[in-house]
Amino acid sequence: NKDYCVVILGSTGVGKSALVKRWVRGNFRDKYVPTMEDTYHQVRSGNRGTGTLHITDTAGGHRYPGLQRLAIARGHAFILVYSVTKKQTLEELKPFYELIREIKGRNLRKYPIVLVGNKCDDSRRRELTARDGAAYAMEWNCAFLETSAKKDVNVQELFHMLLNHAKKP
Ligand code: GDP
Ligand code: MG
Repeated sequence: NKDYCVVILGSTGVGKSALVKRWVRGNFRDKYVPTMEDTYHQVRSGNRGTGTLHITDTAGGHRYPGLQRLAIARGHAFILVYSVTKKQTLEELKPFYELIREIKGRNLRKYPIVLVGNKCDDSRRRELTARDGAAYAMEWNCAFLETSAKKDVNVQELFHMLLNHAKKP
């Protein structure tokens, strides 16, 4: 199977959709549009033909637990997003991480996870330092980046980090 699924998880309003849109379409909107679940597909080609990259932008919070479990079960890589402007959104990632660990079980190590502190452009409202995020990343043994979907900071780096793990089709 040449498909590769990236799943984005995190509380409502942290900028999950904004990050995907920034990467897929290269733009940003200030308007808030709630998501149930959106999937973006991108055809990728390599030496052995083509494959499809699926990016699943999940609903924040835990309103659709069934969808989240299914997305995690199918996922090959995970982006856990919080907002550096809202302390509790980092803590709220814990249940998502636990769910990934529960569903992937002993194979957890095969699935790259990146912890992302978004809205790093908003220094006036910042409640979390990069060290706060790094401490969680250390505990979860995953990569960590601060990003801004708004100012296009580290968004390319984030997706490249994950896709370098994905075998070329
Ligand atoms: P989601 O619920 O996680 O999908 O969050 P959205 O992508 O819908 O974004 C929620 C709100 O945060 C919107 O008003 C966005 O414009 C804003 N937002 C998203 N990313 C950033 C960012 O990097 N910086 C700033 N300042 N605002 C952002
Ligand atoms: Mg959204």
